[in-house]
Amino acid sequence: MATQKRVWLFRDGNRSLRDLLGGKGANLAEMMNIGLPVPPGFTITTEVCTDYNANGRQLPDGLIDEIKAALADVEKELGKTFGDPNNPLLLSVRSGARFSMPGMMDTVLNLGLNDEIVNALSLVADPRFVYDSYRRFIMMLSDVAYSDHYEHITKHDFEHMFYDLKAKLGVTEDLEVPAESLKSLCDDYKAHVIKQTGKQFPQDAHEQLDAAITAVFRSWNNERAIIYRRKEKIDDSIGTAVNVQAMVFGNRGDDCGTGVAFTRNASTGENVIFGEYLMNAQGEDVVAGVRTPMPISELAKQDPVIYKQFEETCDVLEKHYKDMQDIEFTIEHGKFYILQCRSGKRTGPAAVRIAVDQVKEGLITKEDAITRVDPNLLTQCLLPVIPTNAKYNVIARGLPAGPGAATGVAVFSSDRAAELGKGGAGERVILVRADTNPDDLKGMLAAQGVLTERGGMTSHAALVARGFGIPTVAGCSEISVGSDHFVIKATGQIVKEGEFISLNGGLGEVISGQVPVEEAKMTGDFGEYMSWADEFRGKFGVRTNADTPKDTELAIKLGAEGIGLCRTEHMFFEGERRPVVQRMILATNDAERQVALDELLEFQREDFKGIFEVLGGRPCTVRLIDPPLHEFMPNREKLIEEVAALHALGKSDPEKEAMLKAVEGMHEINPMMGLRGCRLSIVFPQIVEMQTRAILEGASAVVKAGGSAVPEIMIPLVGHVNELRFVRQRLEATAAAVVTEQGVSVDYSFGTMIEVPRGALTADEIAVEASFFSFGTNDLTQMTFGFSRDDSDRFLKPYVAEKILPGDPFESIDQDGVGQLMKIAIQKAHTVRPDIKLGICGEHGGEPSSVKFCYDIGLNYVSCSPYRVPIARLAAAQAALGKGVSDK
Ligand code: ADP
Ligand code: MG
Ligand code: MG
Repeated sequence: MATQKRVWLFRDGNRSLRDLLGGKGANLAEMMNIGLPVPPGFTITTEVCTDYNANGRQLPDGLIDEIKAALADVEKELGKTFGDPNNPLLLSVRSGARFSMPGMMDTVLNLGLNDEIVNALSLVADPRFVYDSYRRFIMMLSDVAYSDHYEHITKHDFEHMFYDLKAKLGVTEDLEVPAESLKSLCDDYKAHVIKQTGKQFPQDAHEQLDAAITAVFRSWNNERAIIYRRKEKIDDSIGTAVNVQAMVFGNRGDDCGTGVAFTRNASTGENVIFGEYLMNAQGEDVVAGVRTPMPISELAKQDPVIYKQFEETCDVLEKHYKDMQDIEFTIEHGKFYILQCRSGKRTGPAAVRIAVDQVKEGLITKEDAITRVDPNLLTQCLLPVIPTNAKYNVIARGLPAGPGAATGVAVFSSDRAAELGKGGAGERVILVRADTNPDDLKGMLAAQGVLTERGGMTSHAALVARGFGIPTVAGCSEISVGSDHFVIKATGQIVKEGEFISLNGGLGEVISGQVPVEEAKMTGDFGEYMSWADEFRGKFGVRTNADTPKDTELAIKLGAEGIGLCRTEHMFFEGERRPVVQRMILATNDAERQVALDELLEFQREDFKGIFEVLGGRPCTVRLIDPPLHEFMPNREKLIEEVAALHALGKSDPEKEAMLKAVEGMHEINPMMGLRGCRLSIVFPQIVEMQTRAILEGASAVVKAGGSAVPEIMIPLVGHVNELRFVRQRLEATAAAVVTEQGVSVDYSFGTMIEVPRGALTADEIAVEASFFSFGTNDLTQMTFGFSRDDSDRFLKPYVAEKILPGDPFESIDQDGVGQLMKIAIQKAHTVRPDIKLGICGEHGGEPSSVKFCYDIGLNYVSCSPYRVPIARLAAAQAALGKGVSDK
């Protein structure tokens, strides 16, 4: 039960009471108290909402009396009386939760009107205004208060009647409808209410107010509000406040109006007021799109006096809140009122520019600037974009898996993409697949963008897309992908190979035809902002996951201080190497295997040399071969089919059959828990000996050329110290041999990846054999939960929806479980090796709340894909300052 005051006059509140009064209520109070023109009113607290829902949807005892007392105060201030036909006070009833949930819960305007008041008012005020207000009120209250229980009484139904009326009158604009017609529309509305509900539209002002207030509380649990909260990860239990406020009228004539504005440009950040307004209009008219609003700059010409007031208000608000504000205002007979303000939503580039500008203007400190920007928004600073004013046609929607915009011709296989796209004919292509697998990498890299029918945000396509900054729409179930076309299921529209499509990866939009795309620029503001982040981040490092010199170079440009994960097997997938890798795997004796390995050594040495050169002495954690070998082999099912098809024709292909036999021999029921990681190194020690040799020869070459190289050789998937000891001892011998042969000293070390729970639990034993640990939180999460990462999409979605889990543990570290294992490992490792170097290289290393966790538990660095490096830098700076903007 609420223990404190439940109804707060605006004058008694302030912005620190956001939890209790909701964002809207707290800011209305704040604005009133700094002297801005806010119509008076009061807020019923969020606690009442919680009580209301807990008490079987009953308003708590005594609340009505508190409301009446507050109402009396407003009446006194304005000299008007609620429900009095001679001088009526009219009210707006508005929801307002702690976090803004735009459009999720409704507003009722002009409350307090009834037949008698309307008749009386129409004698003293413009009848058109009076009936326009009444028709809006009947529509809004019916929608908000009764549409849950009765059909055909939503805003939409009433708007339909208004539309029919306009059609009958032969007009298109609301303003062209005369007073008489609006009056008869009100009668039609009331008749409609009786017909639909069997009851008269309430005429008693207090009954109206009760209905509106309870409806707002009820609306907290309407479907769209619940969906919105889920998406935004807003707690269901916090409830909404109700704001009851005296009306001011923007629909009272041509010297009245209503509008919305941002104190700076929300898409570019430019310090110019940005807004739209409509004269002679009320409430949602501006955003609803029935009339085209005018740019706010027009107001400066139309009414310079009002514009000046507006401009001054924007200025006062920014100086007071020290942030860009999003405001709603109304003008009544040449007087300006402000009805709402909140911190304005903005794009990544705008967020950075505003923060930098405001520091320079002396409005905020660098600390404020750093804690204010959501790190995830930085992705938008790095990708090609569709210019803000572009118009385009969205034909389907999927998951925003890899942000950025892309245009190209649709192609349906990776080979075709490689042939036509980057590195091939150089055309712009969009790779469209039902889903993707590691084989599609070359096609993805050749494409401007990727579209898949299946797969979630952690699917292969999404992972690669984020890693490489490829605009991607994944899981687009609105399309069905064939071998040379896709179909938009809803419309049957077919898009064939060679037709232009575009993707807006940031929003998950699939667009027909071409859209203009601009390269994002690393603007001066962005660079400056990131350098501030680094000042606060201090010694906590940010590295990158990169497997090629090109990626490494990109990551360094984006601020990476080394490589935290270099996956050697990615080098095995590339074109000419694959057959050599297969020969190595299929070898029937050591000599044969060694021939293939010697060939691979040449490749890998050059790979590492290239990477060390680019790194210029920065450290590089190289993970030795990790995946099950079948990943390098042809697909088993496909081979079975091909061999069967040949047999059916009475033919045979001995080579293919031998391959099938080998692949069958390697088949594992559960390869992710099978022969992989250090187990491979134990069974086939020659592979990792070759890799160690390649690493050290590559490093030596760089050292000989006058550079430096710091290889950290990482042995994956260790669960028992003996695994690590066994592999390490052999590789130490290889390393020592190479160093002797090369005659230069290389600063190398051996360590392991902590990704098996047993490894974490016995970290004190393992640390004896390891100079460093890198937490492989993808596998660690997979094995701690026993969730297959590649199959978890199907149950994790319902898990999150049903609140079994607060979120996807593959996106953000499960701090209580997986995180506890990390803490145990750190604490145990420190007992035997206080200076052990600790990092993380799972996907989590670029996710802001996980970065904060890693900072807090004492890791030395995080490592993430190149495009996430700036995100991790900012998240680390926020962690160092003890704050994160994304805390909900
Ligand atoms: P939302 O949260 O959806 O923006 P609001 O509660 O802000 O809903 O109300 C929507 C619109 O209703 C406001 O932008 C404003 O135009 C109008 N409105 C709200 N309260 C008043 C009022 N007291 N006087 C005049 N118009 C109002
Ligand atoms: Mg609003
Ligand atoms: Mg792993």
